Amino acid sequence: MDEKFSYISENIKKIIFNIEEAKAKYRNSNDVVEIMAVTKTVPYEAVNYAVECGIKLLGENRVQEYLSKKEFYSPKAEVHFIGHLQSNKIKYIIDSVSMIQSVDSFKLAKEIDRLAKNQNIKMNVLIEVNIGDEPSKSGISSVELESLMHQVSQLENIKVKGLMAIPPVGGGEKYFEKMHELFIDIQAKNIDNINMSILSMGMSSDYELAVKHGSNLVRIGTKLFGVRK
Ligand SMILES: *Cc1c(COP(=O)(O)O)cnc(C)c1O
Repeated sequence: MDEKFSYISENIKKIIFNIEEAKAKYRNSNDVVEIMAVTKTVPYEAVNYAVECGIKLLGENRVQEYLSKKEFYSPKAEVHFIGHLQSNKIKYIIDSVSMIQSVDSFKLAKEIDRLAKNQNIKMNVLIEVNIGDEPSKSGISSVELESLMHQVSQLENIKVKGLMAIPPVGGGEKYFEKMHELFIDIQAKNIDNINMSILSMGMSSDYELAVKHGSNLVRIGTKLFGVRK
């Protein structure tokens, strides 16, 4: 392993430590919280180093950048798409990602379903919620979430696994609390064909808070690889 990347292994240790601390304080120490490495702008060599350190999940934002790096990625990690996705770009990623976390409309879900059917696969998805109702952000509004869930549950080649959110920067705990409530409410509705197991929230600046409020998948870029260039 290339020692010039040893800071990545130190960073992973710190992140794990902080997650364990948040779990010990606020949750059950047996709860599993997965760490996703968010790879935008990061060279594949650094990404593969993180995988050698035990990271099992990579998060991709940009189709073009992903396509230029994916053949160099270690096959030991799974890849989730987490960025805004245009319908006409799904075809480039559908056969190499194991989940699309950024589904926020029935139109997008239908197109993923159609292409998944062509490939004879079932695609795992998360529904992205715009929990702060920010005009600049993607995601379905929380008031429209349940009806979108019912619509998407009808699609045979899509498996909904949970929710994803990017709460407002500096918004504090209330948005994480709201997401956790939505997650629990929808879980309790037991919608057919929907398995609410993943709550993807928390990034470099707020993952401890997200863990406090029920996140089981944190998406970390900066605190893992350093400030993006
Ligand atoms: C960039 C990004 C992250 C990680 O952001 P950091 O603050 O660098 O940890 C997480 N989720 C999504 C959707 C992103 O685009």
